[in-house]
Amino acid sequence: MNIQWYPGHMTKARRMMQENIKLVDVVVELVDARVPVSSRNPEMAQITNNKPRFVVLNKIDLADPKRTAEWIQKFKEESLPSVCVNARTGEGLPAVLTAAREACKDKIARDKRRGMMNRPIRAMIVGIPNVGKSTFINKLVGRATAKTGNKPGVTKGKQWIKIKKDIELLDTPGILWPKFEDRTVGLRLAFIGSIREEILDAETLALELVRFFKNDYRNDFLQKYPIEDFEGKEPHDILREMAKMRNLLASHGEPDVHRLSKMFLEEFRNGKMGSFTLE
Ligand code: GDP
Repeated sequence: MNIQWYPGHMTKARRMMQENIKLVDVVVELVDARVPVSSRNPEMAQITNNKPRFVVLNKIDLADPKRTAEWIQKFKEESLPSVCVNARTGEGLPAVLTAAREACKDKIARDKRRGMMNRPIRAMIVGIPNVGKSTFINKLVGRATAKTGNKPGVTKGKQWIKIKKDIELLDTPGILWPKFEDRTVGLRLAFIGSIREEILDAETLALELVRFFKNDYRNDFLQKYPIEDFEGKEPHDILREMAKMRNLLASHGEPDVHRLSKMFLEEFRNGKMGSFTLE
């Protein structure tokens, strides 16, 4: 699922994207609604140049609905249209088609003036790994044709898939790198499972996740893990208590913080802790 990005990969991905972008009318930038900033590629604006584009906030089932609405508003203020979807269920997909038509309305008008009727809009999906590109394409297409490979910027055997009379989609998504220089961004991407766990071990991540819950969403945490004096306790002691609560004990009856950390991260990633937005 995860890829290691090296400068060579990034250069290749950028070049491939720029070539593909020439072929499309609109670029659909898929992001994870839990991290609408950290899951964006830092060079998106330059790479797409002046091509119409809009943002799709995916995985809304895992994000805080109130914050999702705020993000949509924020993007709007930046003149970047956005819609929110759940690629697994298909919720919100009609709004994506509407947004694509809206983004291309100048082109449609231009075609009409030139007497070119019924030229379909061509779109491509782009995003960093794990934001749900393949799931989203499969749902749009309605059958399992989208490739799930994660090689940077694959364009071999490119195909257009007609998803509506007036909309065609490039079957292969553009895969871009995340920004990893920033530690906070790295942490957020690791929380949602978008970067390799080996980069940051489970325990470090779990400690940071406890800190996140202390600052934000305290009550949601306490509902799941009713720890006494949560405020006053150090994150490490909180992890130990969580392990005890779950009866995760190592050989000498010591709380097994390592196993707990893995479990806690898993619970967070698949929405078992609730729906949260990290930024
Ligand atoms: P890609 O790397 O961008 O192509 O991402 P995938 O399509 O492989 O999806 C990554 C993971 O996210 C998979 O486990 C998907 O099932 C899951 N996923 C995709 N969209 C959604 C969504 O809207 N909600 C939830 N809960 N999971 C999703």
